[in-house]
Amino acid sequence: MAREMACRKCKFVTTGKVCPSCKSSDLTPDWYGVVLVVDPQTSRIARTLGITAKGKYALKVT
Ligand SMILES: [Zn+2]
Repeated sequence: MAREMACRKCKFVTTGKVCPSCKSSDLTPDWYGVVLVVDPQTSRIARTLGITAKGKYALKVT
């Protein structure tokens, strides 16, 4: 299984080389905490983190 990488810009977690959310290639393996956003409209965590699209995000990117 490929190592999951988190996007430094929007915290999106992906196994690809490019962030599918913001198209950035600025990814890092140094992240922890997973936030699964199913409904960004009603999710308080999503609002706090500034997430507007559903998906899997890192809580903290180092
Ligand atoms: Zn991104």
